[in-house]
Formats: sequence, C-alpha cells, structure tokens
Amino acid sequence: MNQEDIKNEIIVRFPPSPTGRLHIGNIRSLLFNYFYARKNNGKIVMRFEDTDRERSKEEFEEFALETLDELGIDFDKGPFKQSKRNEFYIDAIETLLEKGVAFEGEESKDGSGDKVIRIKNPNKKIKFTDAVRGEIEIDTTDFGDFVIARSKTNPLYHLTVVVDDIDMGITDVIRGEDHITSTPRQIILIEALGGKIPNYAHLPLIVGEDKKKLGKRHGAVTWDEFKKMGYLAEGVINYLALLGWNPGDDREFFTKEELIKEFSLEKINNSPAVFDYKKLDSINRMHMQKLSDEIYRSRVFDFISEELKKEISGESEKFDLIIQKIIRERIDKFGDITELEKLGEFNYFFKKPEIEKEKLLFKDSTFKKTTEILKEIKTKLDEIEENNFTAENLKEKLWDWTGEIGRGYALHPLRFGLSGLQRSPDPFTIAEILGKDETLERLENLITLCEEKTEI
Ligand code: GLU
Repeated sequence: MNQEDIKNEIIVRFPPSPTGRLHIGNIRSLLFNYFYARKNNGKIVMRFEDTDRERSKEEFEEFALETLDELGIDFDKGPFKQSKRNEFYIDAIETLLEKGVAFEGEESKDGSGDKVIRIKNPNKKIKFTDAVRGEIEIDTTDFGDFVIARSKTNPLYHLTVVVDDIDMGITDVIRGEDHITSTPRQIILIEALGGKIPNYAHLPLIVGEDKKKLGKRHGAVTWDEFKKMGYLAEGVINYLALLGWNPGDDREFFTKEELIKEFSLEKINNSPAVFDYKKLDSINRMHMQKLSDEIYRSRVFDFISEELKKEISGESEKFDLIIQKIIRERIDKFGDITELEKLGEFNYFFKKPEIEKEKLLFKDSTFKKTTEILKEIKTKLDEIEENNFTAENLKEKLWDWTGEIGRGYALHPLRFGLSGLQRSPDPFTIAEILGKDETLERLENLITLCEEKTEI
C-alpha cells in the first residue's frame, strides 16, 4: 500500500449477481470485504449486478439482503442495481467511442440491427499486484478487441463493473479466485476510462473434501440451509473466516469483533480452502456454549417436536437439567436435537421405559445376582439426601463398591433399567435428572421385575 492509499478512505464492494441464491462462497467474499473495511474504518458498497436480465430475479436480491441481515453484516451504501444505472454505462460507452479507444464492430447477433461495441486492445502486458498471489503479469493480446456492449445502450458485464467501481470510488477489490481472469480485461477498461486501478485480492476457491469446487452435492450451500440445520450465525461467520484466512497462530474461536480486529489480507493463503463440516461443527459448538441459558433454551425449543413440548410442560426444571447435562454436552448444532429425540433420548425422563427384562443382565449375570445388586444400589442411593442427589455424589457413593463387584454388573442394569436404551448417558447423570424419588421408584420396579421370575 503506498502513501496515497493510506491517506484515502478504503472503499470495498459487495456485488452479487442475483441469478441464484447467495451461497457460502459469496458470503465468504463478503465477510473478507466486511472485515477489511471495518478494520480500516472504510466503507462497503452493496450493489446487485443484474446485467443478465433473464436470469436475475428480485427474489434472489431479497434472499441476499435477508442473509446479510440475519448474519448481522451491514453495508454503508446501496444496495444499487445495475439495471437502474444504465445512463452511467451509456455515458461511458460514448466517452470510449469519442476517445477512440472503443469502436463499433459487427452487427449484434440479437437481430436488433445494432452494432456491438469493442474495446481497442492495447495488446500489452498488464501487471498487477494481488494481495494473495503476488505479482501477476498477463499479456492481453489473446483477448483481442473484446466486446464491451451489445449496442451503444446495452452494456456488458465487464463494462458495468468497471464503471461502477470507478464511480463508487472502489479502492480494493476482494473477490473469488474465479474472477482473476476478469481482472486484466477490467484493468484495460479502467485505463481506457481514466480510472484508478484498485488493489486486488483474489480469494482461494472453496472446495469439498473431494477437492472439487463446493456445490450442492457437498451439503448445504446457503445461510438459510445452515440456519435450518441449527447452526448459529456467529459459528458460520467464524468458520467461513477461516476458509482461506488464518490468524497466524492456531486460534480458532473468534467473535465477529475479534475477526475485524485480527483480519489482514496478508494472512490469506492461496491454496484451495477445504470445507470441513467437522471443523464447522466444533466451532459452532464453541459459540453455542457461549449462549445464555435462556437463549440456548429457546433455540432448543425451536428444534424439538410438539409432542415433546407437551411432555415437558410442567416439568421445566427437569428439562433444564436435560439441556444442561445432556443436550449441551452432546450437540454441535441445534438440529442435532432432532436426531437425539428420534433416538428416544428424552422420552424416558418423562415416562417410565418398558424394560425388556433379559437385557438387564450384564454378561453372565443372573436375575438373582442382579436383584441383589439393584437392592444394594437402592439402599446406597437412599442414603443420599434429595438435595444432594447429583451425578457427582451418586458416582462417589457407588464407585468403589462397583469397582469391587465388577462395574458392569451394577452400572449396566442401573443405566439400562433407568433409560431402557442400549446406549444412553451415564447412569449417574440420568439418576440426577430423574431425581431421587423417581430413581428409587424405578429401582423398586426393576427389583420387582427381576424377582417375578428367577429361574436363571
Ligand atoms: N457479480 C459477480 C459475482 O457475483 C461479482 C464479481 C466481482 O466481485 O467483481 O460473482
């Protein structure tokens, strides 16, 4: 960056084409622009590049604005729409023709009888410094005198981008690497129009684990889809920031404010960024853990079924314990709750489970032995006062003794007997959530069940 740039305000842009739903590739570019601008007290201009009239749709613009809003990313100017700025492009075409740096070419193929406008290619080597890839030099001769408008009133993409970038005072163009081939053409146009060449940073491609460009088949691609899966905006922002950028050490958890503070173009790397759901999950989980109990609870309620909500009503203290002891421990995104619920991970807290008697037996155990053990457990647990009935205390009470008799012989029937599930949290946690009365009642029922038939 030279002295002049330091004096000037940084102005970046976020210019999606509303021809589809804003996807995480767009959002990552947006975020890098956002961090860069906010860090340097600069400005962000939002504009919709809707030059492709047929494919551009208002609903995609709305979708993009909603995404930004939900992610809490604001901009300072716009949103502009290129379709509403045609006069600027027409002016530019006129200027270029007058200057003799553009000329009318052959008749347009659209059957209008209009002549296309071509730029006179200076046929030279164009050099620019990319903040990510370093010095880049491209010989423009291969592009020929490329078309910049279908007619004097119908500009094409590169021209609209350049006119807008100049008009909006863009100082830094931070965009996906797939646009790197546009850069020399755009520089030719900026020079022809007498504009100032911005700084460039082309961000590495985001790829799936198969190293192919990220797309639908890799999973979710829009914020909306991530939201439905129960990811937090903070988690997704944090994760996307790490796709191609790193803080220079191994820190991974960042709030948006921290990202603004830490971000620098120098720390963007130029190898493809692999989208890794495991990493996303672990980062999202860290952000979930920062949520207050109240917010966490309300998010949980967004993801549980109406049926479960009914069961919970009147048992809210118990459900709060379930959130704290089970849900908070086991999920990475709120959508995981649906899976836990399907596995029956919550029902047994509210309704005594049906117990298949034979499954109570651990390895070579017998009903007689199991009955005795359950009785002993019951006696021991009864000694713990109701307000001390915590997983920790329960464990302390049973741990040494179960060690002596072989843990599985006691802990398996206790755990399975309380939950009715082959896989469930540890029995101490379950018992704490159930509370003393309910735990002892279930133990008593198990003892009765084992005593009903003791022929083994
Ligand atoms: N409209 C382009 C896109 O959505 C933006 C390219 C640019 O940043 O210059 O990919």
